Amino acid sequence: MKSLQDAISCVSGYDPDALPVAKANEVIRSFVKPVSGVEKLPVRAALGRVLAKDIVSPIDVPSHDNSAMDGYAVRGTDLNANAPVTLAEIGAALAGREFRGAVGPGQCVRVMTGAVMPRGTDTVVIQEIAKVEGTRVVLPAGQETGQNRRLAGEDLKKGKAALAAGRLLRPADLGLVASLGIGEVSVRRKLKVAFFSTGDELVSVGKKLKAGEVYDSNRYTLWGMLSRLGCEVVDLGVVRDDPKKLEAAFRKAAAVADAVVTSGGVSVGEADFTKQMMAKVGEVAFWKIAMRPGRPMAFGRIRGRGRSAYLFGLPGNPVAVMVTFYHFVRGALLYMMGRSDTALPLLRAKSETAMRKKPGRTEYQRGILELKNGEWTVRLTGAQGSGILRSMSEANCFVVLGHEQGSVNAGDYVDVMVMDGLV
Ligand code: AMP
Ligand code: MG
Repeated sequence: MKSLQDAISCVSGYDPDALPVAKANEVIRSFVKPVSGVEKLPVRAALGRVLAKDIVSPIDVPSHDNSAMDGYAVRGTDLNANAPVTLAEIGAALAGREFRGAVGPGQCVRVMTGAVMPRGTDTVVIQEIAKVEGTRVVLPAGQETGQNRRLAGEDLKKGKAALAAGRLLRPADLGLVASLGIGEVSVRRKLKVAFFSTGDELVSVGKKLKAGEVYDSNRYTLWGMLSRLGCEVVDLGVVRDDPKKLEAAFRKAAAVADAVVTSGGVSVGEADFTKQMMAKVGEVAFWKIAMRPGRPMAFGRIRGRGRSAYLFGLPGNPVAVMVTFYHFVRGALLYMMGRSDTALPLLRAKSETAMRKKPGRTEYQRGILELKNGEWTVRLTGAQGSGILRSMSEANCFVVLGHEQGSVNAGDYVDVMVMDGLV
């Protein structure tokens, strides 16, 4: 197993006290490993899970050439590019009920959408342009051989991978699997993630607040984000700022989970006693990340009762905990779940707001993306302090101001990351 130090030494220009977002993610990605457990599930139960093995198509889909339209199946060689032709209608084929005979020269068969192409035919002329005269059908000039016909295997080819391992199974995939006649799929086991909050000032919902106390909201946002990612979550509650209690909590978390996410206790004032304790529990790096919000963060691997888990020690501020989760933990956990695709697209939008920004750090401002006069525009949600959770609640996107970016004028185009789809 690679040590954290090995992972760090692979990253050029590593500076724990001013670590760019991308470098932190490089360290994280080279250190964490996907879980190996696999389980077989009925197709519907696999919705939202990660495919563990390629799904190879056992059949061609569609299994036969069939008609794409309601009309008349004909032999392309009977058609005339410059003049109408008259053919004899010798029967009909419906979806699920094929025409058993063969179609000879000068003949045609009435077909419905999805009907297997009758033997001898290769072309469908739509009913709207056909003229029926008793048992004869007149078809206009200008038809092309092969038109309005779906070919066997054009959707999925027998023996080819229909879905690749590592993909998140979405509704279309369930349908695709079913279209192959497959009833069970192999998915990665769920990732087990333990989480807890740290802080002497924290009070659980339902109790009265005294001066200086705050309700523990991070355990709710963390629970929400982890649940939506599809993790099996283990809530370890609130742990006081006491090295002994923290050590016990970390050891317990490491014993039961694949990953541990905590909030608080990594800021400059608190990191010292956390660091000493962490050195006993595992290998953990303490970072100051060149970003806003969410500067301090701890990352590594901790041990407990003979087992180990990856640790993400997030800052305590309610916005910082969410921002660092989305931009570091999310991708790492998805990778651990076996996902092959974890990157999120950045879209460009016109900023209504001027934003002051210093190059040398990445900022994640909370924005509201809206279509105005046919153009996607973005404005900020107001006060952007890292304790103002309302800014996350009101936002529907992050305005991502990259590491090198300077200030933004109103009317400039900026990168935005839509919240829907983050989890
Ligand atoms: P810390 O990172 O522990 O220094 O905390 C930074 C700030 O976030 C402090 O104002 C804390 O009161 C606040 N905070 C820490 N943990 C939580 C939590 N679980 N819920 C709400 N606020 C918190
Ligand atoms: Mg604290």
